[in-house]
Amino acid sequence: MANSEDNLFKNVIAHSKEYGFIFPSSEIYDGLSAVYDYGQNGAELKNNIKEYWWKFMTMMHDNIVGIDAAIFMHPTTWKASGHVDAFNDPMIDNKDSKKRYRADQLIEGVIEKLEEKIEKEVEKAAKRFENFDRAMFVSTNARVVEYQKKIDDINNRLKEAMATNNMEAMKQLVVDLEIADPISGTKNWTDVRQFNLMFSTEMGSVADDANKIYLRPETAQGIFVNFLNVQKTGRMKIPFGIAQIGKAFRNEIVARQFIFRMREFEQMEMQFFVKPGEEMKWYEYWKEKRLKWHQALGLGNGNYRYHDHLNLAHYANAACDIQFNFPMGFRELEGIHSRTDFDLKSHEKFSGKKLQYFDPEENQNYIPYVVETSVGLDRMFLSVLSSSYKEEKLEDGSERVVLRIPAALAPNKVAILPLMKKDGLPEKAMEIMNSLKFDVRCFYEEKDAIGKRYRRQDAIGTPYCVTVDHQTLEDNTVTIRDRDTMKQERVKASELNAKLSAACSINNLLKQI
Ligand code: ATP
Repeated sequence: MANSEDNLFKNVIAHSKEYGFIFPSSEIYDGLSAVYDYGQNGAELKNNIKEYWWKFMTMMHDNIVGIDAAIFMHPTTWKASGHVDAFNDPMIDNKDSKKRYRADQLIEGVIEKLEEKIEKEVEKAAKRFENFDRAMFVSTNARVVEYQKKIDDINNRLKEAMATNNMEAMKQLVVDLEIADPISGTKNWTDVRQFNLMFSTEMGSVADDANKIYLRPETAQGIFVNFLNVQKTGRMKIPFGIAQIGKAFRNEIVARQFIFRMREFEQMEMQFFVKPGEEMKWYEYWKEKRLKWHQALGLGNGNYRYHDHLNLAHYANAACDIQFNFPMGFRELEGIHSRTDFDLKSHEKFSGKKLQYFDPEENQNYIPYVVETSVGLDRMFLSVLSSSYKEEKLEDGSERVVLRIPAALAPNKVAILPLMKKDGLPEKAMEIMNSLKFDVRCFYEEKDAIGKRYRRQDAIGTPYCVTVDHQTLEDNTVTIRDRDTMKQERVKASELNAKLSAACSINNLLKQI
């Protein structure tokens, strides 16, 4: 991370704590690594993101329904899903700094640097030549060709090592690439070992192995085991989807990036069941739909990009990420995976119960294929927070910090501010708030000068401030201030509800998709 991005990230983290968005978990005991609590504003923002996703899935699609499965599941679930045997990350320690890393991520870091070098060459050439042909340039420029060859070589070795579970080959790659620890600067590495990411605990009073259960590492399995329950009781016809929002737990090896990588986090997942052979069509469909859902928030289309997976997970025949431009660079925000019939087939085998769909059109039974969309709620939160955090210099020379959160997601939609704490202004302000509070979330404040109150609302991202003054008592008009333009206009109090409801509506966002 460059210095300015590093500072920006630090400021976002400090700001989110100071203004009640995110606190370290159990902070009075110095916190718990990679676990966070959402404060009064954070909880509202999080709920709004959930609503935006849930409505998109279950209201905008008449063939998708939502469920809420338990976190604890029968332990065989995780044997069948492959998580007991294969949900591992390769870890490596630097003996000097005593820091732990994911070996695959160290190696991918080298690839990323090479990719950046290619981009720099491309940018330089694009400036030099008119009618610049990118494809031609990358296939003929000697330096770029060499970088690309190196990338392909590293990728192939990494893929091979992962696929064959060959940790020695992984270590050799770290050695050959001369990767140094960013903290100690040394190449004094331990061997690479596989580390299972699932948390386990015991259920019931007898603590033997038979009672060992896991905290789910993904919400998807709760959907798979309920596939037939939902299909039958909901009379669902393929293609159809099941959506779910819920907690997931992973004992991440490296968890140093605030809420980007947590040990307890929330996922919003949808499994879409399709006819075998049609999965690629639906995979492309969901890739496009999900990107549109993100872009409708208005955080900047250039902040998103697709990233195809080279190393496919054990269950997938195609996979890609939607990456977001976080303060530390482009990283995975959402995964879209074509999971084949791996999960249902495996649950059939381990449970001995049929998990098949009778297709009335084909007049036959089959195990559906699945296309999954899986987005981290906390990563969504970070994408909204980090891209809307702005430190601005104003025309009068003063400065402000403003969260330009999309109005539909903002924790509070409007602050109701009586200009003074006397002359009946607080009472009038309360009356106005009571007329609005059933439709939009309001915040009332009467302390401090009005300018100071505006700044505080800017800092928590409240899109509108309504000021009640003496004129309000005479003609029932108020001033409404826009967070982003800071412009104020005088409007009738009776028009506020319609105006705010429209400007802050999640449904209006959904209509753009
Ligand atoms: P990564 O490669 O970053 O570890 P992943 O590919 O393992 O992520 P998935 O298993 O595809 O992630 O999970 C789906 C989504 O859940 C991710 O796109 C991400 O948004 C979210 N997610 C996964 N792990 C975490 C975590 N430790 N903390 C927060 N969100 C997470």
